[in-house]
Amino acid sequence: VVDLDRSACQGAANCVGLAPDVFGYDDDALKAVLLVEAVSGEDADRAREAEAACPALAITLQS
Ligand code: SF4
Repeated sequence: VVDLDRSACQGAANCVGLAPDVFGYDDDALKAVLLVEAVSGEDADRAREAEAACPALAITLQS
């Protein structure tokens, strides 16, 4: 399960580039949006990469 802390998000969009099926981008708020919470397989791997790449530590993954 992916959690996105929108208040912490700085809009760097690393997550969108790494896991485009999991994270979208809100052009108005200049923040990421969570497209799905429950991820598995490749999406989970990509979400984990995004978690590591997020400069704001706004992404957390729990199994
Ligand atoms: S990588 Fe982090 S700071 Fe950047 S858009 Fe995604 S959640 Fe926000």
